[in-house]
Amino acid sequence: MTETATRPAVDAEPREFDMLIGADWVGARSGERFASVNPFTGRVWATAPAAGAADVDAAVTLAGKALDGPWGAMPAAERGRRIRRLGELIAEQAEELAVLESLDNGKLLREMRGQLKALPGWYEYFGGMADKLEGVTPPDPKPNLLVYTRHEPVGVVGLILPWNSPLLILANKLAPGLAAGCMFVIKPAEQTPASVLAFAKLVARAGIPDGVVNVVTGDGRTGQLLTAHPGVAKVSFTGSTASGIKVMKSAADHVARVTLELGGKSPNIVFDDADLEAAANGVVAGIFAAAGQTCVAGSRLLVHRRVHDELVSRIAARARTIRLGDPFGETTEMGPIAFQEQLDKVASYVDIATAEGASVVTGGKRPDSPELARGFFFEPTILADVDNSMRIAQEEVFGPVLAVIPFDDEESAVTIANDIPFGLGAGIWTDNVRRAHRVAHRVKAGSVWVNEYRLTSYSVPFGGFKQSGIGRENGMDAVREYTETKSVWVNLSDDTRDPFVLG
Ligand code: NDP
Repeated sequence: MTETATRPAVDAEPREFDMLIGADWVGARSGERFASVNPFTGRVWATAPAAGAADVDAAVTLAGKALDGPWGAMPAAERGRRIRRLGELIAEQAEELAVLESLDNGKLLREMRGQLKALPGWYEYFGGMADKLEGVTPPDPKPNLLVYTRHEPVGVVGLILPWNSPLLILANKLAPGLAAGCMFVIKPAEQTPASVLAFAKLVARAGIPDGVVNVVTGDGRTGQLLTAHPGVAKVSFTGSTASGIKVMKSAADHVARVTLELGGKSPNIVFDDADLEAAANGVVAGIFAAAGQTCVAGSRLLVHRRVHDELVSRIAARARTIRLGDPFGETTEMGPIAFQEQLDKVASYVDIATAEGASVVTGGKRPDSPELARGFFFEPTILADVDNSMRIAQEEVFGPVLAVIPFDDEESAVTIANDIPFGLGAGIWTDNVRRAHRVAHRVKAGSVWVNEYRLTSYSVPFGGFKQSGIGRENGMDAVREYTETKSVWVNLSDDTRDPFVLG
């Protein structure tokens, strides 16, 4: 992997990407395209087709047909080999993919490089599972019967992605789904089509047959067409809770299965016996890494009143030194917000919070620096005097904004942590091992980190309680989320049974 990357010149012609339907790289039938704006320069750097109903229908139809071809007939071990090969190809193309992702969403190139380095692990892990999807032979329920189960692919799966980490979120879905033998129509977010389209070129090179993986690009309307298509057997969606509700309703109309990975408002809970230096570092990582644009952002800091002032001053001191700048810069610590509307949303939440009585400890505005004027930057922001009932404590901002809420004892920390419609992640900072486990068991969240924050792995289940989602991704069971269990009953007797008696 090279250590330098070149940004396209700001006045360069936008790069044109096409989408993948079956074996073909095509534009939309309507001829319409949409633009992707680079969040650092504020300029259009790429365009992609705006897929309509005919495009989505073609992609779903071809995906459905792929099961009747070599993909459906392929031995599971061979399927697994090709999935692992896809992982190797990602490793070879990692630099290009990281650059495209950073150009699209403005995240730090060094973070994207880190993600891309980890990504082959998903394809290796799940590729290894393709030939281990064993059914069971239950003990004979009656004499002269053989019963066994099979795990068959659920069918065509619509994968709908957000803009913050397109290829990582895609891997959570695609790697186990391919292992299960499914086919896919992927819809990346309108802000970030490029890396997914570049990735899709690797699929054929890995020997995965045409039609198994299709990519349609467009906005939420394209996503809606996909979820409503009767040929889609399952939708796996990552995005906001508001869109997830729409996706679930649309999928319900034809009883498509859903996996939903939705929003969060995760608490980082710091007790007075915690190592405050480590906690401060974890809180900064939880809310300011990726400019807070992560679903598990530790956007609520619950801190014991005894250490409140000291912790807030440590975090504020660190926040003031965070280096904002070019996402391609080796020393940049925080890049821009991904797009203008999201920047406006982040800024509006600071106004909402201060109107409700919160006070700005640091940040709270766009940076003054002229070099950052074109990009969608927002300062790392800490808000104190927050009550958990305020909108800033209850609603997801998806930006570098931390709401600080004091607590007096363990009981009230747990109550505040759980008094929220979300349940995606939580951090617990304490040196008391008994308290760590007690609180970890009581907090309603799909992932709890103790003296750590924001770690994920292909081998560890991930997902949300409450309105943070339905289902789990990653871990051994993820492949099952892409299968239907079939029970086969075989009569071994030579007798004919009474047709009017059950069983
Ligand atoms: P959105 O919900 O706005 O969009 C997500 C995807 O859904 C996009 O591709 C979008 O298209 C599409 N979409 C929008 N409306 C519909 C619809 N009615 N039917 C079908 N598809 C639709 O989320 P963001 O892209 O803004 O991502 C941020 C959100 O994602 C945050 O809430 C964050 O917490 C969550 N997230 C959750 C994660 C998790 O694992 N739990 C991980 C990462 C993010 P388009 O944008 O092109 O219009």
